[in-house]
Amino acid sequence: ATPMSLTTGIGKGAENGILIRSGEALQIAERLNTIVLDKTGTITEGKPSLTDVIPLGRFTETEILRIGASIEQGSEHPLAGAILDGAKDQGVTFVQVVGFNAIPGHGVEGVVEGKRVLFGNLKLMRKEGIPLADLQTHATRLADEGKTPMYLAIDGEAAGIIAVADTVKEDSADAITQLKKMGLEVVMLTGDNERTARAIAKQVGVDRVLADVLPQDKAENVRKLQAEGKKVAMVGDGINDAPALTQADVGIAIGTGTDVAIEASDITLIKGSLKGVVSAIQISRATMRNVY
Ligand code: ADP
Ligand code: MG
Repeated sequence: ATPMSLTTGIGKGAENGILIRSGEALQIAERLNTIVLDKTGTITEGKPSLTDVIPLGRFTETEILRIGASIEQGSEHPLAGAILDGAKDQGVTFVQVVGFNAIPGHGVEGVVEGKRVLFGNLKLMRKEGIPLADLQTHATRLADEGKTPMYLAIDGEAAGIIAVADTVKEDSADAITQLKKMGLEVVMLTGDNERTARAIAKQVGVDRVLADVLPQDKAENVRKLQAEGKKVAMVGDGINDAPALTQADVGIAIGTGTDVAIEASDITLIKGSLKGVVSAIQISRATMRNVY
């Protein structure tokens, strides 16, 4: 492509809410064959809300929500926000937490009402050796509905599940269909559990899912795809995604996401929509064919 057509291509992008940082990014985008999509906030809206509270044994629903919401007061995770908002709506009285600690990719822990509380995913429960009894059946059902179940353990005993759900963005499925028609392989990359991830992937037509990925391992997963010979674009919105955005051949940030993700990227989609990924690649292909 000539410098003139690269400038025109970047201009075309800007007209469509696609900020392309360099002519180089535009040139590389033409050779992409794999699009890796973060789930939460990229395929979905990233605004989860509380859907289910399931108590086990002698615990009550109110108790599970009070303790689960209280322990999340110290967390900045979007899942925590969903639980706090849901609990407030239900008039829950929050209690104090001592020794709060966030365990990245797993959940949170602390002492509530004198009891040791663990709250998070299956990985966390396994790591702490909590027997799950009936809870896993409930968790499986919720995950198959595309919800994210979180386990609550009190003093080493499984006490209940709290689930949240996030809405798929209205044009995610359309955009993914188009990307596949353009000959690109689409992969989902998420810290969420495999079952939930697969349920969401099915809704939007993604065939390959990399789930249960720890925040620090997202970039490594991109690197592995590159080692398979793939030219990879990573699309993400979170602080978690920044190293993977940098590692990818082309990093694409969702403009409504975090500044950290935007700074780590070559392209920013001002509108949150994945249709922007389709447009960016179309512009790149047209530019390289000197259509402009
Ligand atoms: P993602 O942002 O892709 O969901 P994370 O690595 O932040 O990935 O989280 C992975 C999983 O760890 C979550 O789906 C959840 O099950 C658990 N988790 C993380 N943070 C919390 C939290 N504050 N409370 C409960 N569970 C959490
Ligand atoms: Mg995200």
